[in-house]
Amino acid sequence: MSFIQLKDVTKVYDSKGVSFTALQKVDLTIERGEFVSLMGPSGSGKSTLLTILGTLNPPSTGKLMIDDIDIYQLSQERRADFRYSYTGFVFQQMHLLPYLSAIENVMLPLSVSKYSGKEQLTMAEQVLDKVGLLNKKHRLPNEMSGGEQQRVAIARAIVNNPPIVFADEPTGSLDTKTGEEILELFKSLNKQGHTIIMVTHNPETVEYVSRVVVIRDGLIESDTYRSKGE
Ligand code: ADP
Ligand code: ADP
Repeated sequence: MSFIQLKDVTKVYDSKGVSFTALQKVDLTIERGEFVSLMGPSGSGKSTLLTILGTLNPPSTGKLMIDDIDIYQLSQERRADFRYSYTGFVFQQMHLLPYLSAIENVMLPLSVSKYSGKEQLTMAEQVLDKVGLLNKKHRLPNEMSGGEQQRVAIARAIVNNPPIVFADEPTGSLDTKTGEEILELFKSLNKQGHTIIMVTHNPETVEYVSRVVVIRDGLIESDTYRSKGE
């Protein structure tokens, strides 16, 4: 049994009476420990694929199995519980709350958890340490660089230790060097066991990932495994 299985997934969007097929009968299997980059032209269906895999966007037909659970057969509430315990999300815009410090932003997902306040603080400090920002834990987002803000967003995404991390253009608003540092960070998280699925236009990403899936016109155009080279 594979970890993540997308089976025969089609997604049709309807807007103003016009329907558009964003994904056509896509099959994709991802194992634990993979670091996958989803690439392709704008409008090819990458975000649609990411949100379907991310349990956020029910397909029109077909199904998503994760750990043998038929995700879109779950009730909304159980799917939200699943998402909380299995996934973390990182975006191009970091979506940090501007009036909360780094550590407060990282603790946010834990506010609905079973952990005590003290445990939440320890967990947040551990992940801030992992992303190299423990010494800036009391800074507000606007007191940090773009790369640092993205590190905080990554810490927030992994504070609950989710098996899967989804990222949508995480280097899109960063300069080349900072983008490389963020890709290094994802690579180290991948080595620590997180399965990572990333949408990107950044060609440098292929040097960091274990697999490149190219989407075009709602179809998988190519699917290439890479040796990680070390
Ligand atoms: P990206 O930069 O990822 O390619 P897009 O600009 O294609 O993003 O889309 C941004 C958001 O708008 C997405 O959440 C997408 O689902 C939504 N969207 C894209 N195209 C349409 C459309 N024709 N009608 C309604 N929503 C759309
Ligand atoms: P990509 O991420 O590769 O740019 P998307 O998955 O965002 O592609 O979009 C694929 C196609 O589906 C685009 O033509 C887009 O306009 C359309 N689309 C995306 N989201 C919506 C939506 N919510 N409503 C209508 N059309 C959409």
